Amino acid sequence: MTSETSMTPREEELAQAVRGELALFSYPERDWVSGRVGPDGAPMLDVLIVGGGQSGLAVAHGLRRAGVAKISVLDQAGAGREGVWENFARMSELRTPKGLFGMEQGVSALSIQHWYIGQHGRDAWEALTRVPRADWAAYLRWYRETLALPVVSDTMVRDIRKGVDGLIVETMSAGAAKTFHARLVVLATGHDGAGRWAVPEFITSALPASRFDHSNGPIDFAALKGKRVGVLGHGASAFDASVAALEAGAARVDLCFRRKQLPLVNPHRHIETVGMLTHFPELPDETRWNVARHFQRHDQPPAEAGFFAATAREGFHMHAGAPWTYVAMEGDAISVATPRETFMFDHVIAATGYTVDLASRAELTSLAPVIARWQDRYTPPADATQTMLGDFPYIGSHYEFLSRTPDTDDWVSRVFAYNVSAYVSMCPHSTTISGHRFCLPRVLRGITGQLMREETGNVMAALEAYDNVDLVVPAHLQTHIVAD
Ligand SMILES: Cc1cc2nc3c(=O)[nH]c(=O)nc-3n(C[C@H](O)[C@H](O)[C@H](O)COP(=O)(O)OP(=O)(O)OC[C@H]3O[C@@H](n4cnc5c(N)ncnc54)[C@H](O)[C@@H]3O)c2cc1C
Repeated sequence: MTSETSMTPREEELAQAVRGELALFSYPERDWVSGRVGPDGAPMLDVLIVGGGQSGLAVAHGLRRAGVAKISVLDQAGAGREGVWENFARMSELRTPKGLFGMEQGVSALSIQHWYIGQHGRDAWEALTRVPRADWAAYLRWYRETLALPVVSDTMVRDIRKGVDGLIVETMSAGAAKTFHARLVVLATGHDGAGRWAVPEFITSALPASRFDHSNGPIDFAALKGKRVGVLGHGASAFDASVAALEAGAARVDLCFRRKQLPLVNPHRHIETVGMLTHFPELPDETRWNVARHFQRHDQPPAEAGFFAATAREGFHMHAGAPWTYVAMEGDAISVATPRETFMFDHVIAATGYTVDLASRAELTSLAPVIARWQDRYTPPADATQTMLGDFPYIGSHYEFLSRTPDTDDWVSRVFAYNVSAYVSMCPHSTTISGHRFCLPRVLRGITGQLMREETGNVMAALEAYDNVDLVVPAHLQTHIVAD
């Protein structure tokens, strides 16, 4: 945790307004969770949050507001480098319309709108359609610092195991292993939190690693100067990577995608209703499965800004109905065959999303073998199968993992998967920005509910022991309040 502030005087003023408004909510609520001592003799955390991106920060803030004080947020990234926004997200603006936010959790001074107007003025906000990516990243840093959220950086969670009365969390930081003990854990590990960004095998097996990249990772764009670049995919990241390559001086970019037509309709916008986002987990398995299956088959279009930025550039070429059927090195060039033509490239970028691979996540080492997945709980009709969907965890109604074999390994329900693991169970984008307003309260209730149930044994003893004097009677009245 860093102590010195990186806020501008203007940001400090805005932070003061937040603290003022939070005080109106008598923040912080009284810490009501009784302390426990871990096997190492140190106080146990109530909740350990893995991931200091927008979701981890929002959960930490929500827990504080709920009177759960003994929390810590661990992130493998350096301070201020959490999440996707300044790592491999390359779009100029968020794709979320500016009205769909929720991290402020009812505190208007904490909202992106308040912060943005404070930085750039009301006219700039009125003129805005979507928040610039760099502003969103700066807002998240301000949010974290304003609330003094306990983020521990450069700390990777390597495993989460069953402990006595809680969980054992193994971490590595600067080559040193450290064990944390917590009653509950929240996995706020993002879009690849249930697997990894995946380059198709037909590319990885045909090309040396130096000749391809995944769009959601580091790319040396300067090295693409004067090069012919092939991009596979039609999503936002495909167009953003194309723009970045051309801006870096690439000779040309050919973006290819399998579908006959670029998707133009965004099904995400359709399910952004109070009803769907609030009650989706209560829908029958069949419906939830079919919604996720729909999203697998009807992808969202590329983001407007990236699409127009790419199509406006001379060296950009787009090819629909152009799946890559064969990839091979041909001399020093890369030959890529499609049904209609063969391309020659110097480098390829796979904007091919992620694959569910729980075993590939270090933090899931002990969890992956014992958590329930959709394939364990739901068998779709023959005409409704969908690869990958069955691998997603089948999680409980508050984002908690469920054990694969009921009545054994119940400890897994101490872990809340507030990340892409929730894709099928909680709707395809419950942990994105537009889901926060509806989905944060659900995970927070799950956490406080578990902690409160574990308080049951203390309720009466604490109540009977409660002796905080409420009425301070002055000395001259002392004799009058007691019978002779
Ligand atoms: C390119 C891109 C653009 C997107 N644009 C939008 C958008 O415009 N609007 C929208 O609503 N959504 C968008 N999303 C989806 C989603 O909002 C983002 O993925 C967002 O980053 C999710 O925030 P998060 O905090 O859940 O996860 P992340 O921001 O990914 O943060 C997860 C954090 O967990 C840390 N972590 C992971 N594993 C470990 C571990 N084992 N130990 C310690 N730390 C760990 C990571 O270092 C990271 O900092 C986008 C996603 C991508 C990839």
